[in-house]
Amino acid sequence: MEIEYEDILNRFRDFFLAYPDVSNPKYKTYIDEMKTTEKKSLDIDCDDILDYDPELYEAIVERPVDVIPIAEDALKSILLGEDVFVRFYNAKSEEIEIRDLRSIHVNKFIQVMGIVGRSSEVKPEIVEAVFQCQRCGHIQIVEQIEEFFKKPGICENPACGRNGPFKLLEDQSKFRDWQVLKIQERPEKLRGGRMPRRINLIIRDDLVELAKAGDRVTVTGILKTVQESTFKGKKTTFRKYIDVNSIRIEDQDVEEIKIAKEEEEKIKKLAQDPFIIEKIASCIAPSVYGYPDIKEAIAMQLFSGVLKELPDGTRLRGDPNILLVGDPGVAKSQLLQYASRIAPRGLYTSGKGTSAAGLTAAVVHDETTGGWALEAGALVIADGGIACIDEIDKMSKDDRSSIHEAMEQQTISIAKAGIVATLNARSAILAASNPKYGRFDRFKSFAEQIDLPPTLISRFDLVFIITDVPDEERDKATAKHILDVHRNAGEVITPPIDLELLEKYILYAKINKFPVLTKQASRKMHNFYVQLRKIAQDRDAPVPITARQLEALIRLGEARAKMRLSDKVEAEDAEAVIKLFKNTLFKVGIDPETGKLDIDVIMTGKPKSQRDRLIHLMDIISELDKGDGISLEDIIQEAEREGMDKNFVRRAIEEFKQKGDLYEPTPNKFKVLR
Ligand code: ADP
Ligand code: MG
Repeated sequence: MEIEYEDILNRFRDFFLAYPDVSNPKYKTYIDEMKTTEKKSLDIDCDDILDYDPELYEAIVERPVDVIPIAEDALKSILLGEDVFVRFYNAKSEEIEIRDLRSIHVNKFIQVMGIVGRSSEVKPEIVEAVFQCQRCGHIQIVEQIEEFFKKPGICENPACGRNGPFKLLEDQSKFRDWQVLKIQERPEKLRGGRMPRRINLIIRDDLVELAKAGDRVTVTGILKTVQESTFKGKKTTFRKYIDVNSIRIEDQDVEEIKIAKEEEEKIKKLAQDPFIIEKIASCIAPSVYGYPDIKEAIAMQLFSGVLKELPDGTRLRGDPNILLVGDPGVAKSQLLQYASRIAPRGLYTSGKGTSAAGLTAAVVHDETTGGWALEAGALVIADGGIACIDEIDKMSKDDRSSIHEAMEQQTISIAKAGIVATLNARSAILAASNPKYGRFDRFKSFAEQIDLPPTLISRFDLVFIITDVPDEERDKATAKHILDVHRNAGEVITPPIDLELLEKYILYAKINKFPVLTKQASRKMHNFYVQLRKIAQDRDAPVPITARQLEALIRLGEARAKMRLSDKVEAEDAEAVIKLFKNTLFKVGIDPETGKLDIDVIMTGKPKSQRDRLIHLMDIISELDKGDGISLEDIIQEAEREGMDKNFVRRAIEEFKQKGDLYEPTPNKFKVLR
């Protein structure tokens, strides 16, 4: 063992001083830098060791627990210093998926990739505990290597030799920083809606607080275990974690897929197709019949607009957000699931979210550290991709309040239990929801049947309403399509573009194209916007369409130009998105009583005509209520005289009660809350 120690030590020293050759030693330069800076870690590319001394590399992989400390001793012998670390990164041949970690990997050197889902607070961990014997005053040091705290057995002082008691001298002991991160599998590795597997990482010293929740990381380290126990005693099973040696944060923009030269040619040729927009759109969920508008919108989302960072630091998101609200059984979930599969970094989740953090983020109690930890929700995990949120109306109260920030600023700020953090949530949102009462009521406006606050609805660039009303022509076609799919899926739903090629097409567009508005396109959008504002103004609507919708048009126009691999947003793009926008906006914003466009419907959830009537009704009730309450029959009688419908009055009174404008101290005696 001793000889082996010397051997390995010398091999590392040689490597540090003489790789790739003595006249130009790569790592020696870094080591010299460490002498003059605060840097405590020497980062070693595993490929270099493999190249220089494959046996040494083998030793690291097979016996990292012994060998890594020797590497550090070698470094210390050159630096003549303490507290330095050797970190081995890029261990490609040791890379493994979190779900494939097995007992054969225990105590081996491995590399995993994942997304940080949870990060604990940083705690001091004792490394060298200094004890004083209370009988003789002798001081002795106990190194803490195991997970559980170790005390001295007997006093080292030969004149004493008794077994304590010992006092821990905290001020003389040595501590280091310690943190737990929990990483989970990347969403793109989870085909078919599998739950992501997770594993704990123990992070120490200068690696703490490097990665935060939502970061994509590549980690090397030793797979270690701790014995599990219950109150009855220790169990025979062990919990695994990774004792981290190095951690690297992946760059946002670097994608794993490479585009070859001949593929690039294919992509460029494809972009020349005059029907490229339609072709791409029909690649989205080919098993679902119809919905050309929705499919085109989802396609635009895959390409996304152009992110703008203004000189004053303002960030204008490029990702369009889309909401589908529709009757049950109209293939909303199908569309979302499909989109999550085809989108780079797509993630499918339900409104409740799949973790304690829900959609945004939460501070949770961490059972392994016993402290507080920050847990990332779906939007953080989907950072840089598309978050497909089904049944978004079921999201939690906490999510409801923080999702606004996520949708506009694309960050999530959290400050709770001493944890203060801002996480990135640069994902586009494709959400689906059922109408408030399960199914659309034809006699109410659509907007009031969307079970989301208007402030949130206005943050979606496009809102699609899908009603399931019988329509013989369409029903026949849908039925035929579904039957065909079931009979012969391969033939019926082959998309016009090979999906692998489409994925590269999207990536190519995202990396290379940043289209700008032409004068013509800009004029068209300008006119549309001003015209809409004018309608609102003429009708004396208090909240007209906002600049947010104009930004939505620009984003969608840019996305459409990208679909054509164009550097310019042309008039045709502007026209197409205005048409799409009109179709969706007008449907949501149509006042069911007058049949006219009403911006109030979108902004406040109620058409102006109805709001006016509600105000009128409240006036009537106030007038009638002389202090000792008034019955429902009396209210209805009076309201009918003013031309209001009985059912409308009943519904309105329920609503007044819910909002607290009206209360019922004794049955059927309503009073106005003044
Ligand atoms: P939702 O989420 O809107 O309630 P689902 O996505 O669960 O609906 O759809 C219910 C079923 O009906 C799915 O199996 C879906 O494939 C089928 N379906 C509904 N509409 C269509 C359509 N237009 N084309 C093909 N299949 C459809
Ligand atoms: Mg559904």
